Amino acid sequence: MKKYLLLLGVLSLSSCQDGTLVEEAVLIGTDTNEAATLDNSINKKAKNIILFIGDGMGPSQVELARLSMGGANHRLSFENFPVTGIVLNSSAQNLYTDSAAAATTWAAGVKTKNGYLSVDADNKFLPTIPELLSIKGYLTGLVATSSITHATPAAFYAHINSRSKHKKIAEMLVESDIAIALGGGSEFFKLPLSDQAIHIIDNGNSLDQDDLAQHARVLGLFGEDGLDRRLSPPTQLKMTERALDFLDSKTSNCPGFFLMSEGSQIDWAGHDNNVKYMLAEFVDFDDSVAAATEFAKQDKETLILVTADHATGGLVLQKPKGSSIRAQWTTTSHDLSSINIYAYGPGAEKFSGVMDNTEIFDRMLQALDYENLDSNNCVN
Ligand SMILES: [Zn+2]
Repeated sequence: MKKYLLLLGVLSLSSCQDGTLVEEAVLIGTDTNEAATLDNSINKKAKNIILFIGDGMGPSQVELARLSMGGANHRLSFENFPVTGIVLNSSAQNLYTDSAAAATTWAAGVKTKNGYLSVDADNKFLPTIPELLSIKGYLTGLVATSSITHATPAAFYAHINSRSKHKKIAEMLVESDIAIALGGGSEFFKLPLSDQAIHIIDNGNSLDQDDLAQHARVLGLFGEDGLDRRLSPPTQLKMTERALDFLDSKTSNCPGFFLMSEGSQIDWAGHDNNVKYMLAEFVDFDDSVAAATEFAKQDKETLILVTADHATGGLVLQKPKGSSIRAQWTTTSHDLSSINIYAYGPGAEKFSGVMDNTEIFDRMLQALDYENLDSNNCVN
């Protein structure tokens, strides 16, 4: 199966009066990966959950990625999932959610104010899904191409009313029971940590060379802040694969694991109105979902969800002359495009139809039959 990495040749750039960009681009890819809907295990309980977040990934980003990676008959990895739904995503007191408020809905099931992380709009503590699952012996991993203290991953372990307090959020990660966290953000941690229980790695090669599973906890920091691809940090694919290996090997005697993996910079490319940047991030995101899907096909007990917090950039795809695509950005902010969710594996059937983003949290716990989980602790 061939993939086209440089998907669109940007022919021309022009600026609108408000500074947003129009990019006219040629469709280069040809069909490489046709639809092959995966089987679904209806009404079976899930043991593990992998939640993929494409930050800022609205339906136009998905459409453009599909067309440019393989053409009209192509399917992205998650477009072969058997269940899809639509997610409503306003935050408390704001139609336009940010990543912090959206991630709090998945992590804790409650709408909060933009900028808040797993505290409610009155600044009250909200238990997160990793915390709830850890009581039952589960392990949690987090992967992001931003700093690991950035809003989306942070909502899964931090409880604070400001997403910008990165150093405080970093302390909360160290104090949490997140078993493996891979991303950027070394400048926010007081390194070396006095807590020797956490194995720190800062070199992508260590991801392959170290026996990560011999450590109780792993923190991988591959950039000072967000990961800069020009410096060849580990890809989202590599980090997701290694986090999966770690969690899978350590939960053979445990109830299961929860992994969140974020394509953080799809959003940043939208803010930058940059199609080439967005597609490069999207290819890595799609590869990461494909690798996790292969794991889930073998494992048969893993639910995979793919969704977004909001769309970014007001991306509109238009028809110029000829066969190219005109990608017009209409804002440098978040927009109100509807968001999709794609589900595969046991419990996937719970994610069809139109749902509020807070319901994703509820349905994940239902898929695991949380109330009836044994509270066995891991022995390895
Ligand atoms: Zn954003």
